[in-house]
Amino acid sequence: MAQIIAIVNQKGGVGKTTTAVNLTAALAATGARVLLCDFDPQANATSGLGVDKRKAPYASYDLILDGVSAEKAVIHTDYGDVIPSGAELAGATVELIGVDKREYQLKNALEPLRAAYDYIFIDCPPSLELLTLNALCAADSVLIPVQCEYYALEGLSDLMGTLRAIKRRLNPKISVFGVLLTMYDGRTNFSNQVAQEVRRHFPGKVYANAIPRNVRLAEAPSHGLPVIAYDRSSRGAAAYLAVAEEIRRKDGSL
Ligand code: ADP
Ligand code: MG
Repeated sequence: MAQIIAIVNQKGGVGKTTTAVNLTAALAATGARVLLCDFDPQANATSGLGVDKRKAPYASYDLILDGVSAEKAVIHTDYGDVIPSGAELAGATVELIGVDKREYQLKNALEPLRAAYDYIFIDCPPSLELLTLNALCAADSVLIPVQCEYYALEGLSDLMGTLRAIKRRLNPKISVFGVLLTMYDGRTNFSNQVAQEVRRHFPGKVYANAIPRNVRLAEAPSHGLPVIAYDRSSRGAAAYLAVAEEIRRKDGSL
């Protein structure tokens, strides 16, 4: 049975989508059955796995607003399965307003897919609005990418406040799956200080392997490839493969 994991951080540009795409591919490469549900209207995770959203018959919007079954929306790729997203999802926040149990639309849609996967990731938009709320209600846990920069911890306290509220009111079982340090530069004291502080805030939750700043990670999406397919020998590829292995060891599945 799949664990459903929302990749969340209300800050933009911290590596959510990069992590969604590359962790999906890295876990799939270890033999796990992985689905990535793209829940950001920007649809960068969709194109990052080489899927052309214009050719996809259904997208995550259709799951939450048109009652299309999630199974029908799944597209298979060499690097894992994906439920694509598209710009129409941006309007969903408004369209959901009149909908009964609007926070649970994504949960209801994804639940039937649990048996088919080991991991279902949800790539969230950079906000804590209704779309992210839907992801947090659908998820068993959250994976939080943290960019090693000065304001990292400030944003994290807002996120933890939201998670506490979700736990109280909407999804009592939600927990922290893991915290991933991104754009890490081990040569600077600064990156190390941020890493240390994040580890202090989330004892036992921060992956031993941090994701370095690596140009291959930034280049791969324009080729529609995860980094392990674009340049397997890159430091970015090695880092995501190492995190995938950490995750599987922790889950006892490796
Ligand atoms: P988010 O989804 O949180 O907004 P992205 O994953 O889209 O963040 O990353 C923001 C930008 O930074 C993208 O252009 C991406 O290619 C780049 N990027 C992400 N992680 C790294 C990294 N470890 N090294 C270099 N560039 C990165
Ligand atoms: Mg993103």
